[in-house]
Amino acid sequence: MIIDVHTHINNYHEERVVSLEDCLNRLTGTMQDNHVDYALVLSSYKVNEHRPSTKQVVEAISGRDNLGVVAGISYLHYNHRDLREIGEYLESGLIKGLKFYPGYEPFYPNDIRLKIVYDMAIEYDVPVMFHSGDTYAPTGKIKFSHPIHIDDLAVDYPDLKIVICHVGNPWIKDCMEVVYKNKNVHADISGLVLGDFSDKFERYMKKEIEEMITYAGDPKYLLYGTDWPISNMRSYLNFMGQLDLPHEKKELILWKNASELFKIDTSKF
Ligand SMILES: [Zn+2]
Repeated sequence: MIIDVHTHINNYHEERVVSLEDCLNRLTGTMQDNHVDYALVLSSYKVNEHRPSTKQVVEAISGRDNLGVVAGISYLHYNHRDLREIGEYLESGLIKGLKFYPGYEPFYPNDIRLKIVYDMAIEYDVPVMFHSGDTYAPTGKIKFSHPIHIDDLAVDYPDLKIVICHVGNPWIKDCMEVVYKNKNVHADISGLVLGDFSDKFERYMKKEIEEMITYAGDPKYLLYGTDWPISNMRSYLNFMGQLDLPHEKKELILWKNASELFKIDTSKF
């Protein structure tokens, strides 16, 4: 069983306009090729012709049992309609979590402006995911996406379930301390490469992730995710295969932790 907690259906190659349906078919086709049973699709903090809204994604995946939606929230631009829509989707179980993009937008996770959204996540018991570490865009501001700031949020909201995306890369040691210290914080390993891992980079990351587990203990907090289509699914599964971990611990990372955290019913697959 494999659950990928981090995929996108944004059109990153903006010269090629691909329909939402085509993007979803490409995603499920790639999942099938790689024996991935379920994936979460994260919507963006921006909506434009290349980046579908949460509503568009929710409508487009209806009837596809192997996909779930995590709603991207804009720190700068949310309004009362967005909050109402998110509330309705949470109430009806149509979204499995919320995603925030510090670094791409200028805010620290523990900003009071987001309290209302965190309170909703606690009420409906869904995780909140944070972009963390490097921003692909040079216009991003990485002081905001440093994983150390997640500690503030985790302490002030002990009932909030938090995911640090990309293990805070390159600040993996900082991420590992925040995860070790706070029982309500998880991390996903998505987006560590553009495309495929090179042998050299794979060796480097293997060491980093193994050290994280040595320090923070039994990987109950670690989630498998790719950031597809930015990172290649096959290369990611090869990377998982390289990790020096017993089978039961890989199972935790590959699907068990995600199934529990996002309440994904794996009996259907
Ligand atoms: Zn991503």
